[in-house]
Amino acid sequence: MASKIYDTIIIGGGVSGYGAAMYAGRLGMKTLLIGETPGGTIILTDRVENYPGFSKLTGQELADKLKEHALDYKDFVEIKEGKIIKLEKKGDKFIVHSEKEKFETITVIYATGTKWRELNVPGHEEYKNKGVHYCALCDGFFYRNKVAAVVGGSDSAAKDALVLAEHASKVYIIYRGDKIRAEPPNLKRVEANKKIELIYKTNITEIKGDGKGVTSILLDTAYKGSKQLKLEGVFIAIGHIALSDIAKAAGVEVNEKGEIKINRNSETNIPGFYAAGDVVDSHFKQAITGVAEGVIAAYSAYEYIGNKKAK
Ligand SMILES: Cc1cc2nc3c(=O)[nH]c(=O)nc-3n(C[C@H](O)[C@H](O)[C@H](O)COP(=O)(O)OP(=O)(O)OC[C@H]3O[C@@H](n4cnc5c(N)ncnc54)[C@H](O)[C@@H]3O)c2cc1C
Repeated sequence: MASKIYDTIIIGGGVSGYGAAMYAGRLGMKTLLIGETPGGTIILTDRVENYPGFSKLTGQELADKLKEHALDYKDFVEIKEGKIIKLEKKGDKFIVHSEKEKFETITVIYATGTKWRELNVPGHEEYKNKGVHYCALCDGFFYRNKVAAVVGGSDSAAKDALVLAEHASKVYIIYRGDKIRAEPPNLKRVEANKKIELIYKTNITEIKGDGKGVTSILLDTAYKGSKQLKLEGVFIAIGHIALSDIAKAAGVEVNEKGEIKINRNSETNIPGFYAAGDVVDSHFKQAITGVAEGVIAAYSAYEYIGNKKAK
C-alpha cells in the first residue's frame, strides 16, 4: 500500500474529471486523477459550440484546455493513465485498485462516463469496424465518396451525419421517431445539407455484407419502395450506457438505467463518494453540465474533509 493518502481520487479523465481536478487542486486538496482514455467522449467531436466562453472549438481542444487548467495546480494534482478495477471502503477511507497499483483516499469522485449502446441486429457483430462504427470523426474518412448511414435521432447523431457528409457522397439518418432531436443550429445544418437524407419511423433489422464489408441494410419499413438500402457504412448513435459497475459493486446506488444517483451536491448514498458527468442520473448530459457536477463534487469533498477534521 502506498503511504500517501489522497484527499480525493477522481476516476475518469473526461471533462467532468478534469473539471473536478481543477477545482480540487484550487482548494489545495491532494488529488489523483486516473483515467483510461485521456479527454473522454468529447474528443469524438470536432465541433463544440455550446461550452460557455468558447463560441467554437474542437472537443480535443476543450479537453486539453480543461486538463491544462487542472495542471495549473500541479503541486496538488497528479494525472495518471490507468483503469480502475475495484473500489472498497475500509474504515473511513477508500481503497482504489487500478490494474497495477492500489491507492488510499478520503474521498472519491467517480466520473467514468458511458459506453456506446449497441444495435443488436444480425450482422452488427460480424461487421464491427468493417462497416459498422460508432465515431464519425474517427472513421468517417473511410467513407469518402461512398454511401453511409447514421442510426439515431439525437444531437450527436446529427453531428455525426454532418461530419460524414464532409466525406461521403450520401448520408442517411435513420431514426425510429418522427423528428430528430438535434439542437436547432445542427438541425438547420442537417436540413440544409443536400447530401443528407432523413428516414423517419424506421428501424434497421439486419446489416448485410459480403464477408469483407457492409453492402446494405434491411429496414422494417420500405423506403422509396424497398426494404433494402445499399450502402457501405453504418454509424450507430443510439445512446449510451453508464459505466457504473465498479461503483455499484462498492454499494453506490444507481437508477433503473444504471446511472449513479446524485443530489445537487454531487453526493451519492455513500458519504465521501461523489459522482459527476455522463455516468450520473441527470437528464441533460453535456460537457458543461458534467464539468459543473465535477466542480460541485470537488467542493463537496472539500467540505466533507473539513467537517471530519473539525470533529
Ligand atoms: C458525437 C458526440 C458529440 C458531442 N458533442 C457535444 C457538444 O458539442 N457539446 C457538449 O457539451 N457535449 C457534447 N457531447 C457530450 C459530451 O461529450 C459528454 O457529455 C461529456 O464528454 C461527458 O464527459 P464525462 O467526463 O462525464 O465522461 P467521458 O467523457 O465519457 O469520460 C469518462 C472517462 O472515464 C474513463 N473511464 C471509464 N471507466 C474507467 C475505469 N474503470 N478506470 C479509469 N477510467 C475510466 C474513460 O476512459 C474516460 O476517460 C457529445 C457526445 C458525442 C458522443
